[in-house]
Amino acid sequence: MADASKDIVDGFPGDKKIIVVFVLGGPGSGKGTQCAKIVQHFNFTHLSAGDLLRAEITSGSRNGVMIQNMMNEGKIIPPEVTIKLLRRAMLDSANDKFLIDGFPRDEENRAAFENITKIEPEFVLYLDCPEDELERRILSRNQGRADDNTETMRKRFRVFKESTLPVIMHYDLKGKVRKVDAAKPVDEVFEDVKVIFAPLIAKV
Ligand code: UDP
Ligand code: MG
Repeated sequence: MADASKDIVDGFPGDKKIIVVFVLGGPGSGKGTQCAKIVQHFNFTHLSAGDLLRAEITSGSRNGVMIQNMMNEGKIIPPEVTIKLLRRAMLDSANDKFLIDGFPRDEENRAAFENITKIEPEFVLYLDCPEDELERRILSRNQGRADDNTETMRKRFRVFKESTLPVIMHYDLKGKVRKVDAAKPVDEVFEDVKVIFAPLIAKV
């Protein structure tokens, strides 16, 4: 699609009020699963940062090898790469409501996203789940992901605690975190998620 608005460096076309909800939680906390259900019920567009990065690997892009190597170590890919993918996906969509799943994973990504897009999230959905349950889920799910092995999983847990929890803290101080108990079965978690999204939809 040729569209002049895609050439702008910063921000978004000004006439569109864009609503973003960040969905965060440890690896295996059910971000993708809950996002799929939110999409069905509340008409959001789901953007998984991890899936966008994995698509870059399979497309054979210039950054693919770097992304793959970092992912295999559970490391966070530089923000300019991930934000470019997210921003392009948002501009390509006709929707104005986005669930951004698995991002921002650290304070650097958070600050860069806000600076570049000028968007602050409406709120952050935090899927809270104890590590032993996360471990059980990751080791039993079979999605062919190279990073779903015991060694990488432990690194991802550490990165979540050291780098992503501070992002959640940042938004918590602004009263923007909506926490749910994600250790429960999928449908029970979604019951709690629905309560959180219902007022947002009524408002817009
Ligand atoms: N990743 C990243 N930046 C992001 C999202 C993901 O660098 O904004 C990388 C990181 O290496 C992470 C991996 O992609 O460990 C998988 O992320 P995903 O969200 O798919 O994993 P999940 O947390 O859902 O298991
Ligand atoms: Mg995921």
